[in-house]
Amino acid sequence: PFDVLVVGAGPAGASAAIYAARKGIRTGIVAERLGGQVNDTMGIENFISVKYTEGPKLVASIEEQIKEYPIDVMKLQRAKRLEKKDLIEVELENGAVLKSKTVILSTGARWRNIGVPGEAEFKNKGVAYCPHCDGPLFTGKDVAVVGGGNSGIEAAIDLAGIVKHVTVLEFAPELKADAVLQDRLYSLPNVTVLKNVQTKEITGTDKVDGVTYIERDTGEEKHVELQGVFVQIGLVPNTEWLEGTLERTRMGEIIVDSRGATTIPGVFAAGDCTNSPFKQIIISMGSGATASLGAFDYLIRN
Ligand code: FAD
Repeated sequence: PFDVLVVGAGPAGASAAIYAARKGIRTGIVAERLGGQVNDTMGIENFISVKYTEGPKLVASIEEQIKEYPIDVMKLQRAKRLEKKDLIEVELENGAVLKSKTVILSTGARWRNIGVPGEAEFKNKGVAYCPHCDGPLFTGKDVAVVGGGNSGIEAAIDLAGIVKHVTVLEFAPELKADAVLQDRLYSLPNVTVLKNVQTKEITGTDKVDGVTYIERDTGEEKHVELQGVFVQIGLVPNTEWLEGTLERTRMGEIIVDSRGATTIPGVFAAGDCTNSPFKQIIISMGSGATASLGAFDYLIRN
């Protein structure tokens, strides 16, 4: 059996596996796609000490560093079941069952898409999901934020300080964000809030040039010209397969303590699949290191 089995090989899982291997213990990492969400990222400017890099380049250097260690890497494999017996068992979709003394879950998350024409075509060409990451690319430009929940309104407030103008599009008749966020939003001079509207299409030729929406009470179709659309309708953790095992939040995020421990002894978690309040590469790597050291501490005590 493994001493540490890591499930997921994004920034969190890679960091966890490297920290474990450096303790000289038997380490495995199983993942569908090495690098995770980082593969889908264009420019990265907030990975401290690296002024600028690109997703695929960062993934390549993560892979290179993993190869420096005797880590058993199992790529293109999805985990579908976790069960604690004497050891912890992780069953893969191909039927194989991996056994380990400790497991670190780092299966990440995915942004919920609006699913309208233009969204997929213009990803990284004006369609963005992370204001902390891509906000500065739209300095002085006009953008929209789709979604009026807490993350949408936080994004709109954040972007209003950087861009020229922000249009918020909310499907429901009212914003769902906390009142303090709404008050802050409405105090800003360069924000327009459109409620009860359905986003119909993101338009453009080689990059985004606008968004078309329908006013739900009149049925009237309207178009705003702008250069960027931030989709903020939810980040979904990849934890469906853990249903009924360990404790998760209402949103499905795995609940961890300050050492990355979950409610199952020996099972740790890190990165975007957990209830960490902020989801970033540098934060995921830090929490991967924490979970790995947590697992090592558990191993020497049990
Ligand atoms: P992920 O990167 O999501 O990795 C999850 C891993 O788990 C993958 O290997 C996946 O294949 C695997 N997996 C999932 N389910 C299973 C399963 N059942 N079985 C086996 N394996 C599984 N952050 C920044 O700091 N700066 C940026 O500029 C930035 N830009 C971004 C741009 C985009 C378009 C996106 C989508 C995100 C961006 N982020 C950025 C956020 C950042 O990418 C994430 O916070 C980070 O990748 C999370 O790391 P993670 O390891 O927790 O999860």
